[in-house]
Amino acid sequence: MSTDLHGRTERLELSDQNLRDFEAVVLDATPEGIVLSRSAFYPGGGGQPADHGVLIWQGVETRIVGVRKGDDLHLIPAEGDPIPPAGTAVRAAVADERRSALMRTHSGLHVLCGVVFRDYGCLVTGGNMDELSARMDFNLPEVPPGFKEAVEDACNAEIVADRRIDVRVLPRAEAFTIPDLIRTATNLVPETVQDVRIVDIVGLDTQADGGTHVASTKQIGRIRVAKIESKGRGFRRLRIQISD
Ligand SMILES: [Zn+2]
Repeated sequence: MSTDLHGRTERLELSDQNLRDFEAVVLDATPEGIVLSRSAFYPGGGGQPADHGVLIWQGVETRIVGVRKGDDLHLIPAEGDPIPPAGTAVRAAVADERRSALMRTHSGLHVLCGVVFRDYGCLVTGGNMDELSARMDFNLPEVPPGFKEAVEDACNAEIVADRRIDVRVLPRAEAFTIPDLIRTATNLVPETVQDVRIVDIVGLDTQADGGTHVASTKQIGRIRVAKIESKGRGFRRLRIQISD
């Protein structure tokens, strides 16, 4: 396993997606951002927004409302909250309801991606998500009759099948021997990345991905394809909603 470092911060959520509480030491702190020795806050990326949460230290609380990625990971404090000085030991908690909803949503998008690729051969051109709602863009010049219902049914069949969702890290050369690893129309893994994190919905979809996911498809809930929009020049946007 590689060490999951961003700048000086060890990223705990990459190897333990269920971790919500942890302890750390403040390395650097300004009103613009707090750098911790270790963090389970997902910093955002791959369409998944950053976590929220709280730092608890010396009897006070600092609410965290976002993360900024630079040379270091900067946890963004809520305006006006007290800032723990460098050297302070903190307890931290990632807001569970938001993160858990985003994990279900992110995994739901991978199910959608896998189904649309398997059944229609479409590549993804973009996507974004919020808690329990998401959109994904595909290169799909013509919408076949019954497409919306067929995609929704196929996604929910994959959820009922309760496929395992495995995360592993492979050396770049090995990762790119996996067929169809990069489902997106362009290769999004930079040349400098030597270890590639793989999210595998076993038997359905394998992607290079840095996000957080549930452990099996049943944990997603139900997927509803809410809307299909034309984005011009052969592109379609699918909007989905996740429910229990
Ligand atoms: Zn993803």
